[in-house]
Amino acid sequence: MARLSDRQRKQIENKFEFSTNERFLIRQYKGEWEHEKLEPLIRKIRKHYLNEQGELCSFCRLPFREDIQVEHFVPKAGKYGRPEFTFYAQNLSVACKHCNSKKSTNNDMIPYTRTPYPQSGIYFRIAHPHFDDYFEHIEIVDRSRYVGKTLKGRRTIERCKLYDPVIVGVLVKAMRYEDDPLIQGVLRIREMQGDFKRTIDRLMDRIFK
Ligand SMILES: [Zn+2]
Repeated sequence: MARLSDRQRKQIENKFEFSTNERFLIRQYKGEWEHEKLEPLIRKIRKHYLNEQGELCSFCRLPFREDIQVEHFVPKAGKYGRPEFTFYAQNLSVACKHCNSKKSTNNDMIPYTRTPYPQSGIYFRIAHPHFDDYFEHIEIVDRSRYVGKTLKGRRTIERCKLYDPVIVGVLVKAMRYEDDPLIQGVLRIREMQGDFKRTIDRLMDRIFK
């Protein structure tokens, strides 16, 4: 099993807390996720979970390549959609475009009609970013592939297609530096120094691309 960095092991500790004003705003716009007036709030949620998750996707635990999407664990629409959980803090996390689109609007809550929102991983088929310890269910073997340790882990790999060549490519690249203390130090500086972010990102790209 590959050695994991601190940020890969990082669990969400703090869910997003909505202020009274934000709750009012959500009610005012009827919880419509796409409403432009709710955009600043969604950006704030994204920033919160990005930080809580060590800037890694909930499902592949890899750095973001393109869009950073706020993901609804229980879908907000579709056959199994539960619109009442659209702005439920523990239903939200950040995920990469690949995982979010593969996860889609599938039902991963048992049963999908359950109310109120469960507070334990046992009610979910795949690893839940708020209630499950990801690496209790999945391990990274040979620094190049995901292997399910439990049924839930195997389902997560299957649901998000973590064997997809695109994901495997990013995994191999990421594993080259995730357990390197020097590079992890640079990444921590990157987090502290907003202005250096782009410079360090360019440097990382040059080294690992
Ligand atoms: Zn992902």
